[in-house]
Amino acid sequence: LVTADDVHKSFSVGKRKVEILHGVSFQVRESEMVAVMGPSGSGKSTLLYCVAGLESVTSGRTTMLGRDVTQLSKADLAKLRRREVGFVFQSYNLIPTLTATQNVELPYRLRREQPPADLVREALQKVGLGERLGARPPSMSGGEQQRVALARVLAQRPQIIFADEPTGALDTRTGDVVLEELTTIAHSPGQCVLVVTHDPKVAAACDRVLFMRDGLLVHELARPSVTEVASSLAELSGSDA
Ligand code: ATP
Ligand code: MG
Repeated sequence: LVTADDVHKSFSVGKRKVEILHGVSFQVRESEMVAVMGPSGSGKSTLLYCVAGLESVTSGRTTMLGRDVTQLSKADLAKLRRREVGFVFQSYNLIPTLTATQNVELPYRLRREQPPADLVREALQKVGLGERLGARPPSMSGGEQQRVALARVLAQRPQIIFADEPTGALDTRTGDVVLEELTTIAHSPGQCVLVVTHDPKVAAACDRVLFMRDGLLVHELARPSVTEVASSLAELSGSDA
């Protein structure tokens, strides 16, 4: 459902061009949950933004649902993202003046559809915000805002979910609920989840874990244990030093 083929990404820093991704290829298949791990600054978020079509790639190709993202018009890409793709990034695109409920309803309203009230309430309850339906983002913690963003995704039931540190700012219990939700969605027919995480527990719940270092995928584990994930991570950062 998601592919990256020899993706390179450079940013201009002043007058210089700095390449952050040096040719990354991978796939996420139907009913799969895949994690990306690696040291801070290795390019994980950049990779996620590129395959999600939120950043353009410098060279290479990415696809979502069989459509070549690098060939899509801006309008077609926006349409594809709005219908089929969910993003769980910290406080991603929450509207500060809208309540939690209104933020979760927003994608429906933007499509001029009636938001399904049950689904919206259920999604907010699932992420532990059942008591904060009327709260607005500025009065919420970073973790709470992220949970609103997650509830918004849950209420959409997209085919593809991209998540950057979805449990990073959460307490253990809420983190477990979020992880369970993501695995359930990932393993449903026609769906998949790609998640960037530092948490070995999240990675151990995934079907595959891709390890990134200095803008390259360097290692992959299938259905690893928490211990295997931790030792691979230690190896990566050990050889970094
Ligand atoms: P972390 O685990 O800390 O979130 P990461 O692996 O997600 O790290 P990225 O955010 O992808 O790392 O950043 C990788 C590198 O790219 C960093 O050196 C960062 O400074 C650089 N970078 C990211 N975005 C930009 C940008 N818009 N312009 C210039 N450099 C950028
Ligand atoms: Mg990051």
